[in-house]
Amino acid sequence: MDIYRIRPGTQVDLRQWDPDDKSAFEGGKSEGQKAVEKLNCRLEVLQELLYAEGKHKVLVVLQAMDTGGKDGVIRHVFDGVNPQGVRVASFKAPTPEELAHDYLWRIHKHTPGKGEMVIFNRSHYEDVLVVRVHNLVPPDVWGRRYAHINDFERMLAEEGTTILKFFLHISKDEQKARLQARLDEPDKRWKFNVGDLGERALWDEYMRAYEVVLSETSTEWAPWYIVPANRKWYRDLVISEVLVQTLESLNMRYPQPKENLDEVVIE
Ligand code: AMP
Ligand code: MG
Repeated sequence: MDIYRIRPGTQVDLRQWDPDDKSAFEGGKSEGQKAVEKLNCRLEVLQELLYAEGKHKVLVVLQAMDTGGKDGVIRHVFDGVNPQGVRVASFKAPTPEELAHDYLWRIHKHTPGKGEMVIFNRSHYEDVLVVRVHNLVPPDVWGRRYAHINDFERMLAEEGTTILKFFLHISKDEQKARLQARLDEPDKRWKFNVGDLGERALWDEYMRAYEVVLSETSTEWAPWYIVPANRKWYRDLVISEVLVQTLESLNMRYPQPKENLDEVVIE
């Protein structure tokens, strides 16, 4: 899965990244789904360990175009983890109070504490994506933010946070099919936003903005992964695998009990 990790200093051209790629897995959809289920079980154990050890903090950032699959990843990849130690923070258009502060203010308070795993459904990256594409602040203001973000994430990492960032990469055609499905299926209509069509019309501008994000903010301490996301099972597989491998590399241990429990007798 390392083929999807962006090395610091890479200039990303998203046209070179195939949203249909599935080259890191031998099998097809049903084998892929089984592999995800196995990884779910592994993740369950690792998350329990993370919580029990209470030492590491884990932050997972999900970014994508509309219909890119952020909600699907949260449902499928984190299926089975204990809600006690896992939280999702979703970032919508900022409120007046949030806008009255710097753009990291609302983000920082949702970062994970010790033993916790937090999933960002959108993130501070919106402040260099939608904000850039729509000129919500002047270029010199958003232009400084890549450096702020790298510094902010470095601070989080140095203070014990493991950061993983995933860009769910779908094609424009795949988005069309998924938006159409939202229109056609009564149970999906609630997800349809007429406003999403305006964002779709700005597809190329968004791709440029994502390329800058991926080129400027993939660091040793907070790497980006470009996840081929046209196939949902493959998208889930890539993210599950990266997450499990990363948690395994933390070499976590259950804490030793505070007292010697060998002599304890329960009456
Ligand atoms: P959804 O994730 O579909 O519920 O949509 C959330 C909306 O909030 C998206 O259209 C985002 O672009 C928007 N949004 C999130 N963060 C920001 C931000 N910092 N500035 C402006 N819009 C934002
Ligand atoms: Mg939406």
